[in-house]
Amino acid sequence: MSPAPSDRLRGRRILITGAASGIGRRTAELFAAEGAALTLLDCDRKRLAEVARETGGVAAEADVTQEASVARAVERGAIAMDGIDGVVNAAGIVIHGSVLDVGVADWKLVLDVNLTGTYIVVRCCLPWLAKAPFATIVNIASGQGLVPNAPNMTAYAASKGGVVNLTRALAAELAPSIRVNSVCPGMVDTPMTAGFERDVNRYAMKRVADPLEIAQAILFLTGTESSFITGAALAVDGGRTFH
Ligand code: NAP
Repeated sequence: MSPAPSDRLRGRRILITGAASGIGRRTAELFAAEGAALTLLDCDRKRLAEVARETGGVAAEADVTQEASVARAVERGAIAMDGIDGVVNAAGIVIHGSVLDVGVADWKLVLDVNLTGTYIVVRCCLPWLAKAPFATIVNIASGQGLVPNAPNMTAYAASKGGVVNLTRALAAELAPSIRVNSVCPGMVDTPMTAGFERDVNRYAMKRVADPLEIAQAILFLTGTESSFITGAALAVDGGRTFH
């Protein structure tokens, strides 16, 4: 299914969060094959070291909710790569439950990681992105951020709706020098969804996504092929949002 790498990111220096697992990890593997230099940011030190070995990237352990921790990791990566041209924000969590079940502490945790974490990473990377000739940010939102119709995912859907609109606001603020887009996946086969019920009838394609299918969309929005696209929320959801 994976097309042969074609050096589409040769010379680009990309920081990926959530790089130790799932979509972030698959994106790191694809980007390395496409010639990018990588900084891999995640809170899971052991898995991060594995991905760094596989991809030749710099392992930068950090918690995206902690600005000082992110600032150190970003600086470390930027110095090692001699700059940052692109960011992929894939770190995220989900906590299931109804409004009555999910208490305020868990609500805040979901918003902190998914929305504030994205904001913090962008803030820390901006001084480096501002110096890059062709800079991009891709935020991984969710189909739930566009059409929040899954039960018991209110906090997650709110956080991802926030990511979609944060992306649009940043696209307006940072144009024309930095393009900012979001990718909105449907269900993807990753550790995050390992225990989830998989009702494939919600998808026109009648299946969930392979992480590579999301990584390919992130590659498109990071590369030159998407040079006139900013502020977009690209649904990569097998037809869920219209089905
Ligand atoms: P995943 O396999 O769980 O990977 C997420 C990674 O982010 C994990 O390594 C996780 O570490 C890390 N992380 C969590 N909190 C962090 C923090 N505070 N600081 C730094 N790293 C942190 O999940 P995934 O399925 O690849 O999801 C990637 C992104 O896509 C998420 O934003 C998710 O919401 C979004 N998404 C996923 C799907 C799906 O169906 N999988 C659908 C739509 C959108 P730990 O494992 O240690 O927590």
